[in-house]
Parts: sequence; structure tokens; C-alpha cells
Amino acid sequence: MKYADIIIDISHERLDKTFEYIVPTELENQIYEGVQVVIPFGQGNRAITGYVVGLHDKPEFDVTKLKPIARVVKDSIAIESQLISLAAFLKRNYGSTMNQALKTVIPIKRKENEKIKKEISLNVSLEQAKIELTELLTKKNHAVGKERLLRQLLEVDVLDWELATKKLQVPSANIRDLEKKGIIHIESVRTFRNPHLQEDSNKKHITLNDEQEAAAETIKANIDMGRRKTYLIHGVTGSGKTEVYMDVMEHVISMGQQVIVLIPEIALTYQTVMRFYTRFGDKVSILNSRMSPGERFDQFERAKSGEISIMVGPRSALFTPFSNLGLIIIDEEHEPSYKSEVIPRYHARETAVYRAKLANASVILGSATPSLEAYSRARSGEYQLITLHNRAMGQDMASCEIVDLRAELKSGNRSMISRRLRELMADRLAKKQQIMLFLNRRGLMGFVSCRECGHVLKCPHCDVSLHLHRDGTMKCHYCGFTTRATKICPSCGSKYIGSFKAGTQRLEEIVKEMFPQARVLRMDADTTSGKNGHEEILSAFAAHEADVLIGTQMIVKGHDFANVTLVGIIAADISLNESDYHSGERTFQLLTQAVGRAGRGSEPGIAVIQTYQPDNYAVVSAAAQDYDSFYSQEFGFRNLLSYPPCSHILGIQVSCEKQQDAVAQADLLAKLIKNVEPEIVIMGPEDAYYGKLKDVYRRVIYIKDDDYDKLVRVKDEIDKFLLEQKQYRNTSTWFDFDPINTL
Ligand code: ADP
Ligand code: ZN
Ligand code: ZN
Repeated sequence: MKYADIIIDISHERLDKTFEYIVPTELENQIYEGVQVVIPFGQGNRAITGYVVGLHDKPEFDVTKLKPIARVVKDSIAIESQLISLAAFLKRNYGSTMNQALKTVIPIKRKENEKIKKEISLNVSLEQAKIELTELLTKKNHAVGKERLLRQLLEVDVLDWELATKKLQVPSANIRDLEKKGIIHIESVRTFRNPHLQEDSNKKHITLNDEQEAAAETIKANIDMGRRKTYLIHGVTGSGKTEVYMDVMEHVISMGQQVIVLIPEIALTYQTVMRFYTRFGDKVSILNSRMSPGERFDQFERAKSGEISIMVGPRSALFTPFSNLGLIIIDEEHEPSYKSEVIPRYHARETAVYRAKLANASVILGSATPSLEAYSRARSGEYQLITLHNRAMGQDMASCEIVDLRAELKSGNRSMISRRLRELMADRLAKKQQIMLFLNRRGLMGFVSCRECGHVLKCPHCDVSLHLHRDGTMKCHYCGFTTRATKICPSCGSKYIGSFKAGTQRLEEIVKEMFPQARVLRMDADTTSGKNGHEEILSAFAAHEADVLIGTQMIVKGHDFANVTLVGIIAADISLNESDYHSGERTFQLLTQAVGRAGRGSEPGIAVIQTYQPDNYAVVSAAAQDYDSFYSQEFGFRNLLSYPPCSHILGIQVSCEKQQDAVAQADLLAKLIKNVEPEIVIMGPEDAYYGKLKDVYRRVIYIKDDDYDKLVRVKDEIDKFLLEQKQYRNTSTWFDFDPINTL
């Protein structure tokens, strides 16, 4: 006799519990981990569905009390079992409950609150709308909501329902009224509709160049021979990696298999999405993080039913329930956003490789600046390395100049823009070419501090500095705490208190002063908060409606502006000074990507890197566009200090509203770890990077070992301890394996 552990309702956090059922002999060959079954449940033996998450030969409970599984859900195909195994992988390798892991891989249909976006447009001609408006205005006590709506619709073609009701404060009754009269039209839309394709835009194929061809052929030949591998395509910026992906995708689809393409959210722009649509049309679906759970669910249903064969999306698209998955592509493989910041804190790269193994699929990772993890695996032969040395159309890489800001300062130039950069900007503006100026956001935020004593104003609930807003308030970006800006330092009473403007804002002012005739666009968290802000700025710049685009790391990701011939990196060192061991890698990546924006069209490009550390290896190798030199220095450093990929780190965070309890619990866990693994390297416990957030205190412990499984064992021991522990039940603990950000 066999017994099954069944999890019944994965939408219930607290029900992280499996129930044991008897596997009837006649069902034995149909029951396996991951299969969906119907079971009698509770007193009334209500028939409900659940998933089998474990099988064993000996019952854990009194057999006489166990009930048998009623039946197997018919269309529960292999895909469910793959996803359940994937959930088990997440739980084991990243730490979480089975429920949390299942919810990560299987989207749950939530009927309530399902939000579908509605758009309002005119149903009549502009002329007629004007007449309606005039008529409305002649009425006494006319509905101002209607007036506002009509006026707006005379200006814009479509209006978001939310915008109409919230911003313009048009009562929904007014909108419905106008709809009934046939004046306006309301349409429910998905956030990412499949655009209607023009006939001629279909199938406009690019012929691969020799290097691209060789790369694609290598992968396709392996696939044809039934070899399933993981490839790392290391291709310089603009080498045409996406064309290689698409060529292999076409091959895989022609074999009746499906493809998942992961693209970092920030690079998932209209431009990128259109490339896939024009090539593959209706076979493609897009996921994005603005979708409601219901919308995601619908997309996943389409994938399951075979309606589509390509899913493009960020990290979570990895769990698309394709039943015959042939290929997973991870573009910009090095992007930190591939690591989840919610539990389970999985990494999409490792998880993709695991899913591909289950599905017998191939994986292609692509980057101009591979992560140390991926590159070291490629070197060791675990991944197959494919290199694209040249840009797609043979354009030269941008040439690079380093400006030493210390020398600049010595010569009396205190501006954010060096003399050399200024000279080149003037030249480009005269030639009507475009310029991108890039300033890393981190470290230069609009926080408020005292110039006399250095006191920084912090949120009373969080260990985070407050930010000054234009409306004269100071806000905490973590908990939303808001207070009026003070004029006097609360610490020393000085009135020399003020904010440092966000770097990009300051830079915009300087550029406008320096070149009053230049048209300047700025792109950062402030200017892109609107729904399409991001997209609008990029398309305006692409249409040459501006000469200079100023921005944070947002502007360096995967955009292709042919007319940009100058890229200025204002302060290359900012990310170097972070305490994180990734700082060298991040700097190198950002610089390389930024430099890669220049000279993509016919004109050659120049990049100017301004820095206080012109000799730093990350700066020097980025300027020389020499990945290998960067890699070997960085790898040596990681090896010396036992950081990933040369070793593994487990971060454990303990949080509690009572500070003493957080401290005591973390101390207990540290002791436990020492007992379980006396040899292991323990760092901490110490306060987390943000020691307090939303009035919750946070302590952190790090342990290091080259054996990942040893870290998993420690996690399991802690889990066991937490389950049995009676004390400090008000604390919570979570895990982060090989964390990307300082906890
Ligand atoms: P990457 O992802 O490596 O930065 P892309 O795939 O985005 O590069 O390609 C950069 C640009 O070059 C795109 O505009 C693309 O359409 C173009 N391109 C790529 N390969 C070719 C080719 N073989 N012939 C012509 N244009 C190409
Ligand atoms: Zn706060
Ligand atoms: Zn002060």
C-alpha cells in the first residue's frame, strides 16, 4: 500500500500542511508527485482537489483514520508535476514553506478584486462632441463631471477610466450616462494587448551575419542531436544576440515545442516586445508585473491550452505552464532583478536550469557583461560558451576616454561636467547628434541633512533617511511617513539645513544652463512614475524630440538609439563605494552597458567616463571594453575573500517589533548554527543594513561555505528548531541564499 501527502489549498498561507491519504491500488500507477487529485475532505467528505507532494510506503498516521484518494483529475498533465518538483526545488534551495513555493510557481485565480483596465473614447465625431459640450454648458446646474470628461476627450483620443474617475474626479454615473447616450465608448482592455500587426511588418527577416549564424547553428545542431545544454552567449553590446535567440526560437517552435524568454522588466519596452511580435505574431504572449493575478492566470491558461508558444516576461514568466517546453532564454543574464526579493528568494538562472532539466529543454543565457557565476561555469565547461566579438553591422565599438575628476577639480572646474565632456557635447549638439548622460542614482538622493553638524533627518519608524519633495514635505520611501520639512536642525539648532538635490535633477539644471538651446529629457524614478512615463520618454528621445537624455541606470538597458554618438558617465565611482561585494561587478556592468549605447548607428561613438578613481580595475577594464581582464581580477578577489561564485553565502534575517527579542533570537540561531556546523564561518549577528523598517527591528547572520548543501542543511536545522521553539514566537526568520543585496 502507498500513502500520499496532499496539499489542498495553496492560497492559504497558514494551511501549510499536508494531509495523508491512502493511494487505492487501482490508482497506484496514476499517482505521482505533482498530480492533481480529488479527495474526500472533512466531516462531510466534501470532494475537493489537491496536489500530491509526497509519496511513501509507511503511513505516518493511524491507518484506520485515513481515507482513500477518490480519483485523479483528468487533464492534470505532466506539467503540474514538473511545477511541483520546481516548487520543491525552490523550497529546498532557497528556503520557504511548501505553500509559498507552490504559490510562486502556480498562479492562483483570485476572483475578487480582479481589475480590468477600462478605457474611454469618443463614440461620435469631434464636431458632434463639441456640440454636446455646448449643449451641456447651456443647461443650468449641468454635471461638471461630464463637462470635464468631454473637454478631456476633445484633447486626447483615449482616457484611462482610473484617470477619469480619480484625477479628473468624474463620477462613474456621469461616464455611464454619456455611454448610454452613445457619446462615448468604454472598452475593457488588457494591459498588454497583442497589437494589430500590419501585413508588411510581418516576417521582415534579418539575415544573420557569420558570427550570429555560427552561434545559432551550434545550438540548433545540438538540439537536433537531442543534446540539451545550457549556453552562455557573451556578445558585445549591439552584437545582435536577440536575433540569435529568435533564430533558435523559430527552430524550437517548428519542432512543436515552446519557449520562455526572460527579459528584465526594465528592458521590456515597446521596442523589445514589438521585435518578438513582428517575428512570431499571435504565438507570443507577454507577461509584466503590472498585471493582476487574474490576468497572469489567464495568460498561463493560454499557455497551457497551447494557444501560444512563446512567453516573454520578467522572472516570473519562468513558471509558464508549457507542457512541451523546449527552450528557456535569459537575456541580460547578469541583471540583479533575476533574483527574487520575496520568499522564496530564488534566482531565475539556477531555477531555469533546473526546470530545463525536468523538461529536457535547453537554456540560453545572454549578456555583454556576464555575471561572475555564469562566466565561471562557462569556463569550467558546465555551460557552453559562445562569443560574439563584433557588432551586428560591423560598427566599431565606441571609443572611450577617462576623465580624472581630481585633476578637473584641481584646475578649478567644480561642475559636474568636465571640460572635455562639455567640448564634445557642444560638438554633437552642433552636428544635431544625440547625447546620453548617465548618473547612477544610488548615493546621490535628495536626503536632508545639516551642513553644520552633519545630522541626517531620518524616518522615526525606519532606519532610512527622509527625502525632500517639491511640495515641501519630507517622506519616507519605505513606510510613507510624511512630515513638513524643518527649517532648523533638530540636533544642533543650526538653520543651515537642506537637501541635496537628486543628482539627475541637478544635472539637468546644469546642462540647461550650459546649453540653453538644447532640448533635454530626464528619466529617473521621479519622471517615470506615470503609467507610461518610461515609454513616453524613450520614444520621444528615439523620435529625436530631444538632444540630450539624462538618466539613471534605467536609460542604459537595451535601448537602441542610432543617433546617439556621445555617452557621458558623470560619476563612475558611485557604485564602487558601496559596501557590497558586487560593487565592482555592478560598476563594470553599468559602465559597459552605458558605453555600449554610443555609436550604434552609422556614426562612430565616444564615451566619456568621469571618475575619481581612474585606476580602478572596473573602470579601466570597462573603458578598454575588456571583459576578460575584468573577470580575472574580479574572480581573483572573490576567490581570495571566499565570495560567490567561489563560495556560497546564506543570509538569515530575524525580525521583530521588540528589539530585545530580535537580538535574543538571532543570538540563539547563531548558537544553534555553531552546534550544527562547528567549522562553518559565521558573521554576525548584527543589525541589518536597515536595522529598523516600519518599526520592525532586523538582525542578520551570514554564513559562508563552498558546499551549498551544507548551507541547506543549516537552513533545515533552523526550520526544525523554529517549528519546535516555544520562546520568541513573535519573531520571524527568513533565508536568502547567495544574496544579491546586503540584507
Ligand atoms: P544585442 O541584444 O546584442 O545588444 P540586438 O539583437 O538588439 O543586439 O541588435 C542590435 C541591433 O542590430 C538591432 O537593431 C538589430 O535589429 C540589429 N541587427 C542584429 N543583427 C543584425 C543583422 N544580422 N543584420 C542587420 N541588423 C542586425
Ligand atoms: Zn519609514
Ligand atoms: Zn545640525
